[in-house]
Amino acid sequence: MQNTDPQELYKFESLASRWWDPQSEFAPLHAINPLRLGYIDERVSLDGARMLDVGCGGGILAESLAAKGARVVGIDAGLAPINVARLHALASGISIDYRHTTVESLIDENEDRFDLICCLEMLEHVPDPSATVAACAKLLRPGGSIFFSTINRNLKAFLFAIVGAEYVLSLLPRGTHDYKKFIRPSELDSWARRASLAIEDITGMHYNPLAKRYTLGEGVAVNYISHYRQASPA
Ligand code: SAH
Repeated sequence: MQNTDPQELYKFESLASRWWDPQSEFAPLHAINPLRLGYIDERVSLDGARMLDVGCGGGILAESLAAKGARVVGIDAGLAPINVARLHALASGISIDYRHTTVESLIDENEDRFDLICCLEMLEHVPDPSATVAACAKLLRPGGSIFFSTINRNLKAFLFAIVGAEYVLSLLPRGTHDYKKFIRPSELDSWARRASLAIEDITGMHYNPLAKRYTLGEGVAVNYISHYRQASPA
């Protein structure tokens, strides 16, 4: 059984043509990309790393990692985002191996393991995120790193990520996020530990609506990104 939600995929498919427009529904992904790229680049060596971007969408993160020397495989369960990603990489002259598939299928196909896996802003869109975490861990080489980012589940996250971002500030289309699918860092950590992943770091991603700027920093009540490493050879 595939761990995908057709309604979630449809949301991204229908918007995909605007993925690279920094004024579009994807503006927040464009705005946070330099921050998350900097965070990843500081923590792992990208040059020559064999890297998997899970739920890569139109390729905002994938292209920026490839530009730093990573050998990127980008996968997405949505066909329209993958097609947008392929065309954009072609236009940018960047070589990325984009595939319309899922982590579960890569395992079935005995894909070689990766030095680095990123699964950003994606876990809150799948039916069983714990299974996605476990599948990512299986695709990681011993000692490799995984980055996950998602949204915490509490009153503040509801107010900021749904009421604020979707209704007051219109940063995202209404219905982008479902509160019930938000993930507490402790939940992510328990799924990760079960998959032999040990946490290295966790940091918050904050939006200041007055300055219209994102920053990384302490406080993981709303958006956060965590770095895990494979704890034992699997
Ligand atoms: N990671 C990208 C895009 C986030 S949007 C970024 O942060 O810039 C979430 C993406 O996850 C969408 O492109 C959606 O199609 C994809 N997705 C949702 N469920 C998926 C699944 N089960 N497997 C792979 N991709 C999935």
